[in-house]
Amino acid sequence: MDNIVIFGAPGSGKGTYSAALVEHFGYAHISTGDVLRGEIKADTELGRIAKGYMDQGQLIPDELIIDMLANVYDSKKGSKGVIFDGFPRTIAQAEALKEMLTKRGEKMSVTLNLVVSEEELMRRLLLRAEIEGRADDNEETIKKRFEVYHNQTSPLIEWFRNEGVLAEFTYGGSKEEMISNIIKKVESL
Ligand code: AMP
Repeated sequence: MDNIVIFGAPGSGKGTYSAALVEHFGYAHISTGDVLRGEIKADTELGRIAKGYMDQGQLIPDELIIDMLANVYDSKKGSKGVIFDGFPRTIAQAEALKEMLTKRGEKMSVTLNLVVSEEELMRRLLLRAEIEGRADDNEETIKKRFEVYHNQTSPLIEWFRNEGVLAEFTYGGSKEEMISNIIKKVESL
């Protein structure tokens, strides 16, 4: 099974490129942000806890997200591959992912790191706020999410590099070009 991590700052296009990979390769898609928004909508206990963090642009505590992830992953058993979108976001989550996969006789295939300038990220997120009306896409929360990304999530790039799974894709202005480069990389796995 292919286990692909799609990685990048808020607004880097993780959802968009995941959708392209799902369409092209028929993978299952696990977006922890989408799962959490679903929990909030269903008004579960996890959803109620998660909302407080999400509205502030903060990360949900590692233990909660790690437990949730293992359950969702097991529900995708038998698929050709899985795309992890928005997970891992901390070193502890990356270690937990590695352990979870190893326990199941699996391993990380590749991490696709989407590199986009901060100016372009802010432009996209403000646009998304207008179109989708996501509660955490306002300027103040976006700034917080960038800060969290820089402090807690970006150190993972080094972690992935050390694991030998890092592949970087720098956005040069065209979504189609990014999709084609990413697909080529995944085909070469
Ligand atoms: P996303 O849709 O991936 O941008 O996630 C939206 C929000 O959900 C984040 O700002 C976090 O509050 C929370 N979240 C999603 N994935 C994780 C994760 N792996 N660890 C902790 N919090 C997460």
